[in-house]
Amino acid sequence: MSIKEASTPKTPAERLPPLPPPDKLYRPTRKRLHLAFFLCFVAAPFTNLMRFDIPRQRFYFAGQELWISEFAIIFFALMFLMFVIAASAIIHGRIYCSYACPQMIFSEWSQSVERLAQRLAQRWLKGAGARSRKAAGAGLFYAVLLAASVFLAFVFTSYFVEPRDLLGRLLHFDLVTVGGITGAVVTVITFLDFTLVRQKFCTTVCPYGYIQGMLQDKHTLLVAYQDGPSAGRGEAKDCIECKKCVRVCEMGIDIRQSPYQIECVHCGDCIDACEDILRKVGKPGLIHYAWGDAPKTAVKEAWHRRWGFRDAKRVVVLLIMAFYLVGLVLALSFRRPVLVEINPDRSTLFKVLEDGRVANLIRLKLANRTGRASRVRLWVEGLPGADLALPANPVPLKPGETYAGTVELRAPFVQDGQDVHHIRILAQAEGARRADAEELTFITPLKRN
Ligand code: SF4
Ligand code: SF4
Repeated sequence: MSIKEASTPKTPAERLPPLPPPDKLYRPTRKRLHLAFFLCFVAAPFTNLMRFDIPRQRFYFAGQELWISEFAIIFFALMFLMFVIAASAIIHGRIYCSYACPQMIFSEWSQSVERLAQRLAQRWLKGAGARSRKAAGAGLFYAVLLAASVFLAFVFTSYFVEPRDLLGRLLHFDLVTVGGITGAVVTVITFLDFTLVRQKFCTTVCPYGYIQGMLQDKHTLLVAYQDGPSAGRGEAKDCIECKKCVRVCEMGIDIRQSPYQIECVHCGDCIDACEDILRKVGKPGLIHYAWGDAPKTAVKEAWHRRWGFRDAKRVVVLLIMAFYLVGLVLALSFRRPVLVEINPDRSTLFKVLEDGRVANLIRLKLANRTGRASRVRLWVEGLPGADLALPANPVPLKPGETYAGTVELRAPFVQDGQDVHHIRILAQAEGARRADAEELTFITPLKRN
């Protein structure tokens, strides 16, 4: 049966008792990647790889603390991530779902724990009745899941609340503040998700499957079943109707009916199952990954085609991704750890002070966007004897602190026939290689009263 012939869905897959997938070709690879992605998922909020601190309105990306007002960086970061997801859906279909998505990783993990708990209960309680052993296995599974749910909910909530702050709330069983209530609710949802919902989430609630359905095209990676003439093995069908490919599928589908079933997350478990069965009778498996309608070919393809870059659309998507990545890198490299904003306040043109000096008002904003204390030194060029009426200069700033206010810029009166003087105010943060300079005008009366 060719892929094209099989593209029309037929009857729903017959529900057979499920089987654990064999550890053949793709499943061990997937398990290794699951571990790597799980470690990234846990590490990201603690290392500020990616985290959105809602109470403090900060976005952490690649170790940088970004303020919500830093639009350019957040824009480039979000656009880049959006195109990574779109490119992944166009090129590799739902590979992300089965190889990297936390929902799939923890669903499969909870199934493995459930099977292991039942096996242990059978082994440890050999003298007990079957019902008691089953109940003990279930109890063990729920106990492990509860502990895991607290941990996973803690990690997940840490993406939005500072982890140390959250740990304090957890240790004090805080069920009063928003952060504490959020952690408790997420724990309950996580527990229910991984005991009752699991992969059903992927075929019902999750929008990614539907988006992927819209993005895929004739070259998108699929899991396809090929038997008979198109597989190049003559007219005879090799499928022995063992249905192992159906029984291992957690999505409850029969991939032999069509490779275009929206429920398929391209995990490859059915590929492993078929290989496992047919290799025993000396034949290759009938299910494999394929680029769209292209039949499986033994011809070695160029690396870019094997990676999925098969037409101009894919190259364009890659270029757009590269554009946003370059924009993000540039925006990060131009970023100032300490923000300096200096603007004139023209609500009053000038003031003559009691000591005879002239003052103009300046609006000053200094923001320490780092996690350590800093100091900003300010000085004036082009106006001899001028100073800024600051409580301290350099201005000390705690981590994350903002100093904002209107200050007087004072200078001795000079009768030079000019009422507008062009000056520069410079500000340099501790450790900064160069100062920020702002060009302003200083207004004075033409002559002393
Ligand atoms: S059909 Fe195969 S690849 Fe698709 S979800 Fe089921 S087991 Fe995974
Ligand atoms: S596992 Fe292979 S041989 Fe068995 S039913 Fe599925 S396709 Fe046919």
